[in-house]
Amino acid sequence: MDPMDHVSAGGATIPKLGLGTWQNTGDSCTESVRTALDLGYRHIDTAQAYGNEAEVGQGIAQADVDREDVFLTTKVWRSNLRYDDLEDSVRESLDALDVDAVDLLLAHWPHPRVPIEETIGAMEDIVDEDEARHIGVSNFTAAQLEEAVEVADVPIVCDQVLYNPYKDQSGLLATCREHDVALTAYSPLGRGDAISDEVLAEIGERYDKSAAQVALRWLVQQDGVVAIPKATSREHIEANLAVFDFELTDAEMERIAERRGGVSAWVRNRLPGLMRRFPL
Ligand code: NAP
Repeated sequence: MDPMDHVSAGGATIPKLGLGTWQNTGDSCTESVRTALDLGYRHIDTAQAYGNEAEVGQGIAQADVDREDVFLTTKVWRSNLRYDDLEDSVRESLDALDVDAVDLLLAHWPHPRVPIEETIGAMEDIVDEDEARHIGVSNFTAAQLEEAVEVADVPIVCDQVLYNPYKDQSGLLATCREHDVALTAYSPLGRGDAISDEVLAEIGERYDKSAAQVALRWLVQQDGVVAIPKATSREHIEANLAVFDFELTDAEMERIAERRGGVSAWVRNRLPGLMRRFPL
């Protein structure tokens, strides 16, 4: 497996590793995106809610990489999932990013009071207008994903969800595989928890890799899984890409999967559930 490895899902070809940009704003964001692309990344993840689309667009423009070689994802916030709101949101995103189209457009969070048919219908029209190449969802449960797949006339190519060694997503992953949908892992480093994980560090010693690199390797070594670690410094950006030159054994994969649980992980991993219950 090399950094150019992809997941093929619903007709989309998604690089296995992308750069997350949440909480990276201003010049720092532009610099991180430019650095990542110059180092070999070909997948960038942003969202209208991150307030950094203009900086992400500048980073792409400044990098020594053609726009068509970059897989760019943005997301529509949950308060904009009605038909007209979604169209407006996408136009604003494209303006800020300064691109004609994104490669993947995601509904950022499900909204219990907006019919999924309306949101997916609006997203399909965005595809018809060549403003997005593919569509997908984020923070959808297996049941919500199946509903989206059911109503969509074009493939739902991804569900972007919290996934790391502390979070069991085996049920959702099985549903994704059944429907040819990629599972994109956000917070793949457990927002920092993985970095100081002693078990991951011990496994990494055998390969001369850090605990963070072992966490990312564990994700990208799974069929149909994409990881989008956020990194700001050149050192972290470069380290996170260096996970394609070693392979974990089946026993190591299983040992890492057993990391799920633990108090800190338990608290952090409740967040998507809370967001679902208290929609904005
Ligand atoms: P994360 O990627 O799990 O962790 C990011 C943290 O790890 C940052 O503090 C970063 O520090 C640090 N880090 C990165 N690489 C490192 C390395 N090699 N060694 C040591 N520390 C390292 O957390 P996340 O930002 O929550 O998730 C990643 C991306 O997923 C987001 O940026 C966003 O694009 C996406 N996301 C989506 C949703 C959604 O609802 N769809 C929700 C959350 C996140 P530095 O920044 O200082 O390098």
